[in-house]
Amino acid sequence: MFLHLQSTIDDAQRAAVEAAARALGLRLVEPDPVTHLVELRPEGVPAPERGRVVAVFTALAGVVEVLDRPGDPPMWSAARRVPTTVAVGRAIFGGGHASVIAGPCAVEDGAELLEIARAVEARGATLLRGGAFKPRSSPYSFQGLGARGLEHLKDVRAATGLGIVTEVLDPRDIEAVLDAADMVQVGARNMANSSLLKELGTVDRPVLLKRGFGATVEEFLGAAEYLLCGGNTQVVLCERGIRSFDQVTRNLLDVGAIAHLRAATHLPVIADPSHAAGRSDLVRAIGRAGVAAGADGLMVEVHLDPSAALSDGQQAIGPDEFEALVQDAGVLCELDGRTLRTGDQTIPHPPLPKIPTHLRGTA
Ligand code: PEP
Ligand code: MN
Repeated sequence: MFLHLQSTIDDAQRAAVEAAARALGLRLVEPDPVTHLVELRPEGVPAPERGRVVAVFTALAGVVEVLDRPGDPPMWSAARRVPTTVAVGRAIFGGGHASVIAGPCAVEDGAELLEIARAVEARGATLLRGGAFKPRSSPYSFQGLGARGLEHLKDVRAATGLGIVTEVLDPRDIEAVLDAADMVQVGARNMANSSLLKELGTVDRPVLLKRGFGATVEEFLGAAEYLLCGGNTQVVLCERGIRSFDQVTRNLLDVGAIAHLRAATHLPVIADPSHAAGRSDLVRAIGRAGVAAGADGLMVEVHLDPSAALSDGQQAIGPDEFEALVQDAGVLCELDGRTLRTGDQTIPHPPLPKIPTHLRGTA
């Protein structure tokens, strides 16, 4: 059997765990530094009865649970717990709540960022997105403002009521990014970067984990497991489109995966229609599809002058289109009893269309 220890377990709690093991005739093997699992080896025969071991250890501070095998069931599994809610500033994801993250692809300029922030906040976004460190396919493309971009994000947070979501690319930048971010983004290209995930598993900050464009759902959940077993339980999954054979959209929003994840995991799931579409004219429709499939929110790229954006301008929508999408999302959430949070109050939306008499149930 294995004990799953809290990553924050202190010396006194560890000593109590060791004493309990000795009293039961069990030896503790060295804890695994990534999973915080420690094997319990029986010193003699007969080994203590399983129920007794579970009862003794689950009553101790610093112990999360007792497992028969590592990762069985995995920590992301819906079989383990009720839906997780992740609260970030005024945003809540999961457990019947949905929220919208919006902003430019990249932080480009302080004044412009503030203007975009005010525009999206007034239209229902509760978190501002914007990359200071950008993962670009070409080294000749704009790589982000780096530390200066983080300063702009901090200024905008202070000037508005918006929390900040920004990406970290490199474990060496985590400390600086945490200084600016209320939620740290792990991008599609880094989803399988286990060094980065291990580090972020130990931080006390929600993580937005984007699915790699070539990653299976199982690989996506495996990446989430790194964060969870490291001790960070504040994880929001983001489906942002996978690579398909077709070129009409940049990626293919996997709505089936969103629906599947809503049932398979207790973690909240959001959709990013911007990177799925790759073109602004389809963002609203694809965003609707994500929420209809069960997404607990959206992440949308918004710019005031998309043609001048330094990255991903072709998929950025303006404030009016964004407002329409937020309205749509509010209506769609309501259809299955969820609430879209848009700041201090929930989104006001137009009344639902009346169902024609011939389509109503006869009961
Ligand atoms: C982004 O959100 O700006 C981004 C780079 O997204 P992805 O990692 O999904 O490509
Ligand atoms: Mn982008």
